[in-house]
Amino acid sequence: MIKELISVNCPMGCRLHVEMEGKQILSITGNSCPRGKAYAEQECIRPERILTTTVRIQNGTHRVLPVITDKAIPLDQIMEAMEEARKISLEAPVKEGDVIVSNILGTDANLIASRSMDKIS
Ligand code: SF4
Repeated sequence: MIKELISVNCPMGCRLHVEMEGKQILSITGNSCPRGKAYAEQECIRPERILTTTVRIQNGTHRVLPVITDKAIPLDQIMEAMEEARKISLEAPVKEGDVIVSNILGTDANLIASRSMDKIS
C-alpha cells in the first residue's frame, strides 16, 4: 500500500510517498530532509495531534476557558482526553499557561490554559 502525505514541518510542504506492508514501512520518498522522513514514520505508525478544546469555568468572565496540550498526544487518545476535559470545572481566576491537568492520560503532556480569565466582580 502507498500512503501519500504532505510534510507539515516547514512551508515547503514536500509530498511524501510511504510504501507500507501492513504496519511496516518499506520506503519513504519525496522528503527533502530527514525531518520529513521522521514525520512520515510517526504519522504512519503512531500519529499525534495537539488537543485544543474548552473546559467549564465558574465565576469567570466567560463560561468556558480554552485549553491546549503543551505537546502532541497520540491521535488514538484524543477522544478520551476530550472526555477528561469535559469533566473539568474550574474556578476563576486562571492565568494563561496554568496547568489544568498534568500528564493527561499518562501521555507526558499537560493540558494548559490558553488564555487568562479574570473572576467576575
Ligand atoms: S521534508 Fe523537510 S524540507 Fe520538506 S516539508 Fe518536510 S521539513 Fe520541509
